[in-house]
Amino acid sequence: MPRLLLATHNQGKVREYRLLLQGLPFQLVTLGDLGIQEVMAEEGSTFEENARAKAEGYGALSGLLTLGEDSGLEVEALGGEPGVRSARYAGDHASDTELVLYLLARMDGVPRDRRGARFRCAIALSGPGRETELFSGECPGIIGDGPQGEGGFGYDPVFYLPELGKTMAQLTKEAKNQVSHRARAARQACHRLEQMCLEVSRR
Ligand code: IMP
Repeated sequence: MPRLLLATHNQGKVREYRLLLQGLPFQLVTLGDLGIQEVMAEEGSTFEENARAKAEGYGALSGLLTLGEDSGLEVEALGGEPGVRSARYAGDHASDTELVLYLLARMDGVPRDRRGARFRCAIALSGPGRETELFSGECPGIIGDGPQGEGGFGYDPVFYLPELGKTMAQLTKEAKNQVSHRARAARQACHRLEQMCLEVSRR
């Protein structure tokens, strides 16, 4: 079976992708499996640019077909922040708890009708001799007043989904994977990966 490198050091993302990519005709390998410790600089101004840089950078290091992703939160009342800076919003190496508390402090006093937000995800597929291909997904929600739930990672405890009456962190992994930004981008990427496999087997 051909190998597909899942190019992220974020273990929350790895857990979700293991389910999202299940059943594909690829053997999934992680950066940890290959002993790759490099962290690619995220210098782009869009999720797509950063996803491309990660897929192409780790693809060149490994020589494998590589899935890179960049994702984050955009909050209306903060003019789209933290955006591509989502992981570093509360400073380099901030924990998930610090990120959530910092966001809540920035949103202090913002009324419910102005707390709209969305998660966004860009996925890039890159491999030897291939043009990089991009896929994206988003998920709308509302920033809650306080953290709720233990699941997921990052901003999930304060990302409230009105239709479900729960935060992302109150969903099971399976339920999050029905609605999330990452699931929406991954569905398109999976479709493309299945096509790639067929193309290779016809040669
Ligand atoms: P990066 O893609 O490594 O730059 O990190 C994206 C950051 O956005 C993560 O560290 C989280 O803080 C946040 N983020 C991205 N996706 C999710 C998600 O599904 N739930 C909660 N937070 C997320």
